[in-house]
Amino acid sequence: MRPILATIHQTALTHNLHVVRTHAPHAKIMAVIKANGYGHGLINVANALNQADGFAVLGINEAVTLRQAGFAQTLLLLEGVFNAEELTVAAIHHLDLVIHALPQVEMLEAAHLIKPVCIHLKMNSGMNRLGFSPTEFMAMYQRLKACQCVREITLMTHFATADTPIGIAEPLVLFKKTIDGLKEAVSLANSAIILRHKVAHADWVRPGIMLYGASPVTGTSAAAFHLQPAMTLSSEIISIQTIQAGESIGYGSRFTANKTTKVGIVACGYADGYPRHAGQFPTPIYPHGAPIAVDGKMTQTLGRVSMDMLFCDLTDIPNANIGSSVELWGEHVSVDSVAEACGTIGYELLCAVAQRVPFKVIA
Ligand SMILES: *Cc1c(COP(=O)(O)O)cnc(C)c1O
Repeated sequence: MRPILATIHQTALTHNLHVVRTHAPHAKIMAVIKANGYGHGLINVANALNQADGFAVLGINEAVTLRQAGFAQTLLLLEGVFNAEELTVAAIHHLDLVIHALPQVEMLEAAHLIKPVCIHLKMNSGMNRLGFSPTEFMAMYQRLKACQCVREITLMTHFATADTPIGIAEPLVLFKKTIDGLKEAVSLANSAIILRHKVAHADWVRPGIMLYGASPVTGTSAAAFHLQPAMTLSSEIISIQTIQAGESIGYGSRFTANKTTKVGIVACGYADGYPRHAGQFPTPIYPHGAPIAVDGKMTQTLGRVSMDMLFCDLTDIPNANIGSSVELWGEHVSVDSVAEACGTIGYELLCAVAQRVPFKVIA
């Protein structure tokens, strides 16, 4: 069997949930497990995070899967429902809905449900993606408050700049002004807010990336927040080439050696979800590629990532051989450091791990 493997560490997930609790001890935790648990496997993640007060997903099928697997927590659909049939299913399975646009309000007003549903009414606080503007918000609240199909209303927004130096002071004031006088639960905080903006913890927090042990803030390591990586993507060296000065490797001959170089070929490529952009954003420590560990020793990728394989520099790891273990990311190599060398964020790499990569869950 091809040696690539994604190992999911349930103890890391549980530990990271505890870090959320430590930061926001008075809030209920809505663990965000959309995108197949940020690539870690929906049920794997939900099992490890069973102590969370709720789970947030996108697709109604994910929510129903969780309900049928026995999860009794609040289950929230982050984009709400897309038609009346889904609304019926949501009511049957006791799913909570984000309500962010007028057609969803009208759908609720026209519905006859077996049980009323709980909703999270979303305000647009400057992201300009989903939600009602501050001027529309109160009118929508009144309509939904009067709606027979609505049980409880939580007030929510999602800030655009929680992870940047701009912060959230201005949109937070706007949100508070908009909901002034309402006595409902409030939900504001993604990972960046949980870790950086205590003032906005409110009644529910919505951690995503921090649960998986990656950093929500570019340039700040997850380890600095005491988070543990929940996924190790590993493989092995399957071939070794020694090239001389002037020789090149891979498609486009993008890397040319300037001295005798021992090159390892790793069974992992972009069809496994490894970013093809590795090395296009060089850093002083890794001038040719992304960080990677071989037999626990740090080195870098070289040349262009191909569909099924990539290259790494073994010149300073003389004992490395065919069969040597490779960590693409995990304990030694943070997914954020790989992302940085690829001009992206850890979120994207974790979500992109391909279906053909086998998973192993360890407790
Ligand atoms: C994805 C998402 C989150 C989680 O964000 P992280 O940055 O991963 O913590 C929280 N709230 C909403 C509305 C989201 O879509």
